[in-house]
Amino acid sequence: MTLIEKLENNERLSLEDGIALYDLDLFTLGKYANARRRALHGDKVFFNVNRHINPTNICKDICKFCAFSANRKNPNPYTMTHDEILAILEKSMKNGITEVHVVSAHNPATGLEWYLEIFSKIKQHFPSLHVKALTAAEINFLATEYKLSFDEVIDKMIEHGVDSLPGGGAEIFDEKVREYICKGKVSSKQWLHIHELWHKRGRESNATMLFGHVEKREHRIDHMLRLRELQDKTHGFNAFIPLVYQRDNNYLHVEDFLSSTEILKTFAISRLMLDNINHIKAYWATSTINLALVAMEYGADDLDGTIEVESIQSAAGAKSAKGLGLQAILELIETSGLKAVERDSLYHELKAY
Ligand code: SF4
Repeated sequence: MTLIEKLENNERLSLEDGIALYDLDLFTLGKYANARRRALHGDKVFFNVNRHINPTNICKDICKFCAFSANRKNPNPYTMTHDEILAILEKSMKNGITEVHVVSAHNPATGLEWYLEIFSKIKQHFPSLHVKALTAAEINFLATEYKLSFDEVIDKMIEHGVDSLPGGGAEIFDEKVREYICKGKVSSKQWLHIHELWHKRGRESNATMLFGHVEKREHRIDHMLRLRELQDKTHGFNAFIPLVYQRDNNYLHVEDFLSSTEILKTFAISRLMLDNINHIKAYWATSTINLALVAMEYGADDLDGTIEVESIQSAAGAKSAKGLGLQAILELIETSGLKAVERDSLYHELKAY
């Protein structure tokens, strides 16, 4: 069967197929990815009203691509207090947020108890707020620091109010690339194992992939296939998020930035390869909002959210520091001719515009 016949018949695609998809022209690829996206979600574009909080940028790890960590090129170390976080959320609740997204650097001073306490306080003050917190990399860091098993950390997180896991820390699963860009961080196997344990508790999570740095196309496809394999077992990933590498203020020194065509092809290929993950998110903070909207015609169906304040990608050059207003999101989606749907963190539809 040829690749086009496989696409026509919605056949499951192999590693070789995935690599060959990049050789198709953008419009052919877009046609098949968009058909798949429309079969799943019609003309809906999902977003949520959320607030990102990054409690500290002090990190014991040394990922080469990172511009956020104060140990690398960010000259302004900070750690928020619990009261600061609660005060931010008090304000954000008035903007209608339904989710708080808490991810951070690996700071030994903000240890496990510090996190568990703030999760409990958030749930106590704002019981309706969905808490999406701690990447698998942070869970691995905390488990190592406190000599606990992943199961023990996960159970404590759930006990203190964490509802779902963000998808960060996956970067690129290929071991050699990983060794080069983020040596010492959670391994690929550990990342997948932590999400498997999370899913086994009936909980959902996201999965990311950082692309556009030193990886090759085959590494992206391999990454997608490792996620697809786990998803066949657990069905716990609700979204896949290809994150475009930001090149400022870090130690990777990548000269060539990816073309828009390569970025859109990667979104389209994600949609086609990941036949068992419902949503493909074009996280506008890394792709720019304009390209994220174009990606909605190339397989993606979700824009993430309003964010309010973004520290991690903006430290590396993204224009996302101030988030995006709800009205702006709605207008942008409307001008693209698609239907804006506000969702909650687990993709229940809250409001169609
Ligand atoms: S990516 Fe995360 S773990 Fe790596 S250096 Fe930056 S803050 Fe630390």
